[in-house]
Amino acid sequence: PSLPSLPTAPSAPSAPLDVLGVPGEINLDYAASAPCARAAADAVAELLPWYASVHRGAGALSRRCTLAYEQARQTIGDFFGARADDHVIFTRNTTDALNLLARAVPAGTTVVTNSSEHHANLLPWPRGSVRLPVPSDPDGAVRDLAAALTELRRGSSPALPVLVAVTGASNVTGERWPVAELARVAHRHGARIVLDAAQLAPHAPVDLLALDVDYLAVSGHKLYAPFGTGVLIGRADWLDAAPPYLAGGGATSHVGPATHDVTWATGPARHEGGTPNLLGAVALAAVCKALDEADRGLLAAHEQDLLDRLRAGLAALPHVVELRTFGPDAPRVGIVSFVVAGWDSTEVATRLAAEHHIGVRDGLFCAHPLARRLLGEAAARTGRRDLPPTALRVSIGLGSTAAQVDRLLAALAELG
Ligand code: PMP
Repeated sequence: PSLPSLPTAPSAPSAPLDVLGVPGEINLDYAASAPCARAAADAVAELLPWYASVHRGAGALSRRCTLAYEQARQTIGDFFGARADDHVIFTRNTTDALNLLARAVPAGTTVVTNSSEHHANLLPWPRGSVRLPVPSDPDGAVRDLAAALTELRRGSSPALPVLVAVTGASNVTGERWPVAELARVAHRHGARIVLDAAQLAPHAPVDLLALDVDYLAVSGHKLYAPFGTGVLIGRADWLDAAPPYLAGGGATSHVGPATHDVTWATGPARHEGGTPNLLGAVALAAVCKALDEADRGLLAAHEQDLLDRLRAGLAALPHVVELRTFGPDAPRVGIVSFVVAGWDSTEVATRLAAEHHIGVRDGLFCAHPLARRLLGEAAARTGRRDLPPTALRVSIGLGSTAAQVDRLLAALAELG
């Protein structure tokens, strides 16, 4: 199928948001790990000569590193709209951030989540968590949550805490969840809400205050920074009352001779035991700053054009079936999953890499309940019996181009 050509000039990202890559290799797997932005690489290169311990030394290098680490915390907190009483805690990634929160919720907390979540937002929660069924549209998600919270409140003491855990955008379908509405429902029922922003933050501004969510978790490596840094941001009270997530150096203010003689630090340090990942923090802060200074509307419009082109191209291929939860027109970020009828998905991914230098993801995307359900739904919707048991995922972002999308579509067309 022939596709219209897109204007590219006005939407070319500015230099700090150029991404690093390898000529000839087409990366369409941003949702797993996005390429590194120039801003992040530059920030790391600038700090490397100063490499010294954080929070542990009196030397000039060490003091500069400590300052850089704390400035990064401030920049990242500001970028995500952290409130005065929020902590910004550095973690390794989103999984780590959600596990930290799971250990910090008060005893007796019921966590309400949805079967459509990534495993990182399903598995850390305590026993007795409620897992709602996959809704058929965003309004359904809001209705189901309201009904579940009403039921929970009827059956349990109103004093027991409830935490709603929800994604901003699905890592399988890219579909956006109605976060602000879900937050309103949660708060109306006296519950708190945590946002898994791993897939939303790379594509759209995410602001704790504006969305009125209590906690937010993100991964640096999906946000154009290198691996190894994430953050949990949110209400300080639960975090200050919880046992330290990583007990060790830096997490204490006093340790005496007896085993029980420990005073744990308050604030972010309580959960950040051990020498921190300074370069990761600084790199992530540099990306946040660059995104803050960019015209995000322009970036989003460019991405939406590419996404429309990709989805229109896939829809025109009779052997390709898109996976979706909410229907074709639901708002979504630059992620699309699909199957190629009659083809094993790993085989397709391997061919795309070997023959076309195109990198995509195949499998069930660490969201087994959702992916399996959508594969079943795709078979039912199309009546096809030749759909494979796993899927392919294409995801785009900064630096993605119409030519890359067209190369993918041409390669998939050959499989028809
Ligand atoms: N949540 C979502 C929605 C994700 O897509 C991912 C990563 N695929 C995670 C959480 C976990 O992120 P990480 O592997 O960086 O911990």
